[in-house]
Amino acid sequence: MTRTSRAVVLEEFGKPLQLRRYDVPTPQEMAALVRVEYAGVCGTDLHLQSGHLPIPVPVGLGHEAVGRVDTLGPGLTHDVLGNELAPGDWVSWLNNIACGRCRFCLVEQQPTLCTGSRRIYGINQSADQWPHLSGGWADYIYLQPGTVLVKLPEAATPQQVIALGCAGPTAVHGVLNEVRVRSGDTVVVQGSGPVGLAAAMYAQLSGAKKVIIVGGPATRLELAKRLGVGHVHIDVFQVADADERTEIVHGETDGAGADVVVECAGVPSAVAEAIDYARPDGAIAVIGQYTDHGPTPINPHLITRKNLNISGSWGFGARHYLGYIASLPQLVANFDIGQMVSEYALEEANSALADVKSGAVVKAVLRVGDE
Ligand SMILES: [Zn+2]
Ligand SMILES: [Zn+2]
Repeated sequence: MTRTSRAVVLEEFGKPLQLRRYDVPTPQEMAALVRVEYAGVCGTDLHLQSGHLPIPVPVGLGHEAVGRVDTLGPGLTHDVLGNELAPGDWVSWLNNIACGRCRFCLVEQQPTLCTGSRRIYGINQSADQWPHLSGGWADYIYLQPGTVLVKLPEAATPQQVIALGCAGPTAVHGVLNEVRVRSGDTVVVQGSGPVGLAAAMYAQLSGAKKVIIVGGPATRLELAKRLGVGHVHIDVFQVADADERTEIVHGETDGAGADVVVECAGVPSAVAEAIDYARPDGAIAVIGQYTDHGPTPINPHLITRKNLNISGSWGFGARHYLGYIASLPQLVANFDIGQMVSEYALEEANSALADVKSGAVVKAVLRVGDE
């Protein structure tokens, strides 16, 4: 008897998501069928639903998920790190497969900048085309050959793995690969959403002596304090004046400015403020400007005058994703990240999306299986 799977599908931009049913495919060579247990809701999903990004519809959503191996296709016996795989194993996967042929894949080794046909689960794989189940908001997901598949470390629960979702590997890319926080650094993180909190966690794990979070609303900063994320918390709604915030940051850094500033706010003006926060010869990572909100005035003289090192960081690739998975035991030993999560049933995908939009929850997770 053919098994079927539910899948949450975006059929039309700006319209509520629909629950559809598809036949569960049998994996071809080197592919895998995974029973999804938890799937994250990300800010990107809001942009997808609103039609801000050029994607095919209908599309099965869900680009962050964890689950258990259901069936392995012929030839697929180990995960990307060489661990043996068997049905029932807890796994996760990089949500995209770069083309492997363009300049950025082959020469620059920057697959997040792939200019070829990058396939992204839950984003650009049409639900109308086989294998149909290419999103994580479903009972099953079909992982194509070439997917970076990884067995989960036992030290972290699947709920903890999904708690940060995309934010974890995004922060690994920005904080560990682009700016490299060093022991004893003073770090400012702008933004207190999942990316900001993850960035602050990695700064602390890297040995930063003081992490200052500039964010809001107050409920998010309270959560950060409960989790032990950040040493100083500046509420942008309470301290509404940017100059005043800069004064506080300079006061907290003995008048010198921060060694590293990580922008995760997504507000263009935050970049100008980051330039003010940084000390001479300091570093700034701009990782929050994921969607284009237009230009903003900055004073470029300060970049020269302070000899600043400013880097961008776009999404994440296999290296950052595996870095995130590898850091999980240390991450969960230091921060109770499960507290960030609010769970919803698969049928409640529309409410989960609405709650992410309103900011009512920090991290919405669809609990798909009954594990
Ligand atoms: Zn995402
Ligand atoms: Zn490419």
